[in-house]
Amino acid sequence: MTIILDGKNTANKILENICEKTKQFPKKPKLAVVLVGDNPASEIYVKNKSLKAQSIGFESLVIKLPADVTEDNLLEHVYILNEDVNINAILVQLPLPKHLNSQKIIEAIEPIKDVDGFTSYNFGRLALGYNPYAIPCTPKGIIRLFDEYNINLEGKNILVIGRSNIVGKPLSLLLEGRNATVTMAHSKSIDIKSLAKRSDIIISAVGKANFINSDFIKEGAIVVDVGINRDNNVIIGDVDFISVAPLASFITPVPGGVGPMTIAMLMENTFELFKIQHSLFLI
Ligand code: NAP
Repeated sequence: MTIILDGKNTANKILENICEKTKQFPKKPKLAVVLVGDNPASEIYVKNKSLKAQSIGFESLVIKLPADVTEDNLLEHVYILNEDVNINAILVQLPLPKHLNSQKIIEAIEPIKDVDGFTSYNFGRLALGYNPYAIPCTPKGIIRLFDEYNINLEGKNILVIGRSNIVGKPLSLLLEGRNATVTMAHSKSIDIKSLAKRSDIIISAVGKANFINSDFIKEGAIVVDVGINRDNNVIIGDVDFISVAPLASFITPVPGGVGPMTIAMLMENTFELFKIQHSLFLI
């Protein structure tokens, strides 16, 4: 029997819990999101993040800047948010327009407000096995989903397809931290199908619709689909769910799998940063 890893339901439980805890504080956590340009997908993500924050009792601020904003002007906005004691968490929506150096902008965020965990301070601490202020939301959400379904990762052969700084790399570190044996594949990897066939868990973060089909799957494998691919107005994952699900023991749907967990972890990270700053600066 195949079990659906229900990210929507799990995320809702996490969000309800954060909402309850937030009520105990006189001040509210505040998330600032910086959106540059008018990429329609980014606009939807930012709107959803902001609405979700408000729905659980957080405050949110969206700073919209034109696509031709200069790097200095964007940096100035980040510095102002760093200085503002009412802002607990800063997120710069990626991707940024090509004339902007994304890493330079991310590095400008104070690590204690870096809600995505993308600064070299937080990423470095994650890599070294020390506690960062925040762990990248999508990888953290995937680990939380495994925990929710009592999936033990120790000793498992796990194939992570995709090596981005946002998903694949931090996810591999987290899985290794749970004593899994991790293989990372990417666009130059040879024969991903064979690697996948040998894997107990396959996590696809490639961004290509139906990249994984039943030929990649060992019977009973666990399949996690991170991909978000747009086909007209329909969102589909990297995994051909119809052919893969009957072979899998557990599988995430798209939508309703990793996506809602990512947003829930963004809220959890905001709340955690708020608590750290509260104890450091306000009490
Ligand atoms: P990315 O930066 O574009 O990275 C894609 C990765 O896939 C790269 O490492 C690339 O290899 C690899 N790749 C590309 N073609 C491949 C192929 N034919 N075979 C094997 N590997 C291949 O993307 P990302 O930001 O990590 O996102 C990946 C997907 O996840 C996208 O669909 C994105 O929208 C989605 N996503 C979803 C969530 C969520 O919450 N559900 C969050 C973040 C991202 P190279 O390194 O060699 O180029």
